[in-house]
Amino acid sequence: MTPTPVLRFAPSPNGPLHLGHALSALVCSDVAERLGGKLLLRIEDIDVARCREEHVAGILEDLAWLGVTWDGPVLHQSQHFDVYSEAAQRLEGQGLLYPCFASRSEIFEAAEQGAVDPDGAPLYPGLHKSLSKTEIEERIGEGQAFALRLDMERALNAAKHMLGDQPLTFTELDEDGRPLTIEARTERWGDAVILRKDVPASYHLAVVIDDARQGVTHVTRGSDLFDATGLHRLLQVLFGLQEPLYHHHRLLTDDEGRKLAKSAGDAGLTNLRARGVPGRDVRRLVGLG
Ligand code: GLU
Repeated sequence: MTPTPVLRFAPSPNGPLHLGHALSALVCSDVAERLGGKLLLRIEDIDVARCREEHVAGILEDLAWLGVTWDGPVLHQSQHFDVYSEAAQRLEGQGLLYPCFASRSEIFEAAEQGAVDPDGAPLYPGLHKSLSKTEIEERIGEGQAFALRLDMERALNAAKHMLGDQPLTFTELDEDGRPLTIEARTERWGDAVILRKDVPASYHLAVVIDDARQGVTHVTRGSDLFDATGLHRLLQVLFGLQEPLYHHHRLLTDDEGRKLAKSAGDAGLTNLRARGVPGRDVRRLVGLG
């Protein structure tokens, strides 16, 4: 028996939603309906310094206005840090993580000029990768905060072993639902952060753990996250998790061709609602006809 398709809309409440989020929510809801599946709502609020309750309330109002409904309880990631920490401990136990005490500016200074990860951040130059055990203990003893980073080389080797030398790939469904096999190219992320310095989670870790424990079968999200999928696949292999299917939809851009930002002004859903635009008109505004 094939499992019921499960999709999720997973906004971060670090600002008001805009038309780009509406497109994402509507695409997820349409696909769930077409497949006869479920749509879950997940609030990705691990960034406790930037996420706000008022934005969570705004998301719920926006979805009601759009006519997007979801199944089951809403998962708030900030209530599950213990789950992400425990998962990271498993990777640590496999010798795949190491502590990095370096600050953002130290990393920026040490990074090779022009070498960036797929998010455009300076590619981590390996600072603190070979600190001795004593030095690590000393720094921790002094109360220095640290992130836990993935040793990418080791992680890829471990995954290679687990995959029996098969290449690391993911399945992307195109607009017509046809599957394409995509090479993961995960090494481009370098030694990615798995547990942040400020919170015991990271986007990449939390998304992989939650997609698995919520039984998500079809990860449907914006194409700005296409490159992150390779890293998510690597983590899924290391944790021995099921592989979902992926679909990365087009992004909406502003007049200058840039991806809409949270400060989208006229494209902000609260502003549209306040101007009396009916929620049903949004389909047309985002090009869904
Ligand atoms: N929380 C992410 C965002 O709002 C989406 C994450 C995902 O769909 O994987 O951009």
